[in-house]
Order: sequence, then structure tokens, then C-alpha cells
Amino acid sequence: MARIPTAAFLVAVSLCTAAVVTRHARAQETADEPEYTYRRGADNGPERWGLLRVDWAACYWGRQQSPVDVPGGSSAPGPIRYGRLSQHYRPAPATMVNRGHDIMVRFDGDAGGLLIDGLNYRLRQMHWHSPSEHALDGRRYDLELHMLHQTDKPSNKSFAVVAQLFRIGRRGDATLRMLEPYIERIEDRRKGSAEEIDYEVDPRRPVRRSDEYYRYTGSFTTPPCTEGVVWTVATRIGHVSRHQVDLLRDAVHDHARKNARPLQDANGRAVALYYNWPLRGRGNTAATSDLN
Ligand SMILES: [Zn+2]
Repeated sequence: MARIPTAAFLVAVSLCTAAVVTRHARAQETADEPEYTYRRGADNGPERWGLLRVDWAACYWGRQQSPVDVPGGSSAPGPIRYGRLSQHYRPAPATMVNRGHDIMVRFDGDAGGLLIDGLNYRLRQMHWHSPSEHALDGRRYDLELHMLHQTDKPSNKSFAVVAQLFRIGRRGDATLRMLEPYIERIEDRRKGSAEEIDYEVDPRRPVRRSDEYYRYTGSFTTPPCTEGVVWTVATRIGHVSRHQVDLLRDAVHDHARKNARPLQDANGRAVALYYNWPLRGRGNTAATSDLN
């Protein structure tokens, strides 16, 4: 067995001690070591999520993963369709939860939902990623809101996510402004820490003004990276203040300050551009065909 040089041994010991001290100081945050992180190149980093657990295999082997780069502008993203984004949201009681890797607003009452291709999706929760996970024409934005919906009956398309991208501007986001005190309260708290919100959260505000949206079939952007998720990405970019982005980054655990999964291969998937027209109609009646 090779003899460890004394100096190297002492350095190793002091590094371990430092690690223990730091760890102790942040015991609250690291009491539950994250199973996966956003640290590129780490053993449990995003490139290796699918190798960490058998039920996360889709993260590595899946062919319909999210997020993706949505080509726009001069290069048409894919088929153009017409169909109103049929939202029927309503304000509902909600709870703010620190999930370690993100900050989530969980709806505890009936917040309404979406009608897509005849399927009714109920709004379950919303959460934020920073920077944005989806890119438009190769460009990532400062923040992305995900509104996660689920059908009452299980199917091969049980989940739908509506995504809203934001860039930093002078005006902040009105929904986040109302949530700021609660985000501050759960900052750096243990995974699963929750704060009940004193008022009903209105899900109609964040994506109300988008006239066009992209639609494609993808996956969850966190393990288990389940596929068959119906994605709707609003083309209109919202505004958020730097303070609001910083607040969300400070509130999550250190490994997730930048909690955007790297872009995934499209693998031939088409992204359809939908015009929110007719504004009054029967929903997606003109856009019922599958994309793939
Ligand atoms: Zn998300």
C-alpha cells in the first residue's frame, strides 16, 4: 500500500474538517442531501440524472425530453395552427413550498385548469426556474414559470405544463410581487417546508395576454423526466424584476440557484405555433391532430 505523504494527509484532514464545519453550519439546508443537483459535471449532475435511479432512466434514454430550443423568427418552428388556449382558471387557496430544487405554489383548492384536445387538465401547482429552461431561437431568458396540470383520469397524456418566460425589466411580475413575503419566509428552509398563503392565488394573471403559443410533446424537466407531457410555451415574454429573480434563487438550496436543466435534443419533434384564434370559440377544435 502506498504511504500517504504527511503534508497531503494533513491537507486532506483539514479539508474534511472544513467540510464538516460548513456542513454543520448549514445543517438545516443539507439535512436532506439532494438526490440530484444542477451542478454540471457532478456525480448527480443533470447529465447523469438518468443513471442514478432505475425509475429515472428516461432522463438519460428518453427521446422526448424537455426543455428544448424553440426555433422561431425566420426559421418556422413547424406547423401553424389555430386554437384558443382554453383556460378556465379561478383563484384558489394555496401553499408555498420549498422543494429544495425550486419554489412551488401548491393549489389546495380547485384552481380550474385547461382543455386540450378534449382532455380536461386540472391545475395542481406552479413553480419557477432561473434562468429559463426553454430557449427561443437559441436564447434563454431570466426566468420561467411552469404551471403543472394533471388529468383526473390517468392516460398516456396525463400531464400538461404551461410555460411563461420572463426577462428582467423595470416592472416586476404582479403574481410574484404578492408572493414575495412568503418566498422570504421559506428561504433556505428544509426541503418540504411549507407556508400557507393567506389569500387565494389567482392563476389567471401570469399568462393572460399571450396571443400565440408553441406546443410540443416533451417531458418533466426534473427526475423522473416522465414523457408524454403536453407543453404550451407562451410566445410573449413577461417582465420580472431582478429582485424577484434573486429572491427565488436565494430561497432554493445552493445547488439549485440556477435550476435550469440543459437543453435536450428535439429528435425530430415538431413544435407547432398556435394562434390564439378565434378568441371566442370552442377551444382547440381546429387543432386536434397530434404533433408527432
Ligand atoms: Zn418546472
